[in-house]
Amino acid sequence: MSDSFDPNTLDLAADHIIAGRRIGRGGTAVAVIRPADHAEIGIIRDADEAVVDEAVRAADAALRTSGWATAHPQDRAAVLRRWADLLEARRVEFARLEAATSTRPIAETLARDVIRAAGAIRYFAEYADKLEGTVVGTGPGDTCMVVAEPYGIVASITAWNFPLINAVWKSAPALAVGNAVVLKPSELTPFSAARLAEIAVEAGLPVGLFNVVQGLGPTTGSALVRHPLIRKVTFTGSAATGARIMADAAATGTKPITLELGGKSPQLVLQDVRDLGPVAQNIANGFLANAGQVCTAGSRIIVARRHADELTQRLIALASARRPGPTWEETTTLSPIVTERQAQRIERMLAETIAGGGEVVTGGGRFSSHNAGAYFEPTILRNVGEHTVGFREEFFGPVVALYPFDDEEEGIAMTNHPFYALAASLYTDDARKALSVPRRIEAGTVWINTHGRQPGYGHPQGGFNHSGFGKEMGRTGLESFLRYKTLWHAHG
Ligand code: NAD
Repeated sequence: MSDSFDPNTLDLAADHIIAGRRIGRGGTAVAVIRPADHAEIGIIRDADEAVVDEAVRAADAALRTSGWATAHPQDRAAVLRRWADLLEARRVEFARLEAATSTRPIAETLARDVIRAAGAIRYFAEYADKLEGTVVGTGPGDTCMVVAEPYGIVASITAWNFPLINAVWKSAPALAVGNAVVLKPSELTPFSAARLAEIAVEAGLPVGLFNVVQGLGPTTGSALVRHPLIRKVTFTGSAATGARIMADAAATGTKPITLELGGKSPQLVLQDVRDLGPVAQNIANGFLANAGQVCTAGSRIIVARRHADELTQRLIALASARRPGPTWEETTTLSPIVTERQAQRIERMLAETIAGGGEVVTGGGRFSSHNAGAYFEPTILRNVGEHTVGFREEFFGPVVALYPFDDEEEGIAMTNHPFYALAASLYTDDARKALSVPRRIEAGTVWINTHGRQPGYGHPQGGFNHSGFGKEMGRTGLESFLRYKTLWHAHG
């Protein structure tokens, strides 16, 4: 069966979803542009403070009337399981929606994204009734218990790069443990979150528990973070926006925040590696998946000098095998850059990096064969100085820099970036180093002999330093939507 399809035939709901209904009110109209060909495919209404307030109040009313927060976890789990089943049953619809409106190629949305989104919902459904409270020693006489409770209303704000998966990670765990959610998807990719909220209601989620507000960051996003009824904020996006969200949350009192931010992740290749074939394959996937528009993209290759030339040749060959193309065509293996603005940002960063001494080994510009959409050549740089923007900031494109080293200690030290510490990978055939070197790398995730492999649902993810704090997924991720209360019972 061919997976390719016509992207113009889908139902694109660009409205807010409040109390289970599509609502188109709000401020300025914002056009939604399809990444693959820059066609205008819809309009969202930037939710102003009144619309955000309506969504938050819908969540508040639902929490007060539905009994969701105090329901038996198994009852909540039953709803989430149906939600996951519905998502999976509509796998093709969601895969097409995601591919037609984001940078994700249909082959990947169909084979991976929707199934992993449904799997994550199921994981949290199954975990919710396995959390246990504790009884704490108090000396004779009294009993002290610690119980976990939901926060209330959670504000979830997501990035555009994996719209469906981001929306699931920021809603399913919160709902599984009894919260309500108001989610603001990226204005660049607003559609899949809205459909996700609609099918949650179909699955039996009481209306108002999962609302979606569409809009821009400084208006809708900021109003959501500042709303006094929001008890917890969870955010995925850039480090600069993360800092603004902290400031907004602080301006209105204090609110717990989880921040999943950007990275400048290293891929470290040690001298002892015997076969560079699989290493090159992993490294290429690590910086070319979604055209490098992945928070954990492995954009700094720190390689023992004896491997540098062969690795470069292998990467050039693998990069040239990637096929850029519309996201709805099954042969596409290189995503478009999300917007023209972002493509120009990559070009500016490259120009500045080259002016600062960086050299282009391969790539360095757009594919001339594509007039519609922005498609960037896989690009390998060398001699990228630490003073350049190419070292300091994320390209968020298919761009990687090679840093050869002579001394292994020097190579290990180079993995730690001055700001970012999201992920890293290490390639070695030495079992002792495979376990000892990662302990010296500052990163929330260190892959060994792979990069970017999809973690299991149980693996907590999140960065250190300027890459953010708090975790998503796993027990730790689930607990980030809970607060703990001590109950002290005096016996006499
Ligand atoms: P972004 O920071 O521009 O936007 C992210 C979201 O924040 C959007 O929904 C946007 O509308 C909103 N926003 C912007 N300003 C806001 C404000 N003042 N208040 C509230 N909300 C605001 O990021 P992006 O371009 O959408 O995504 C790319 C970035 O996300 C990269 O830095 C990438 O590394 C990061 N990212 C991190 C992870 C992770 O898990 N660590 C995952 C995906 C993406």
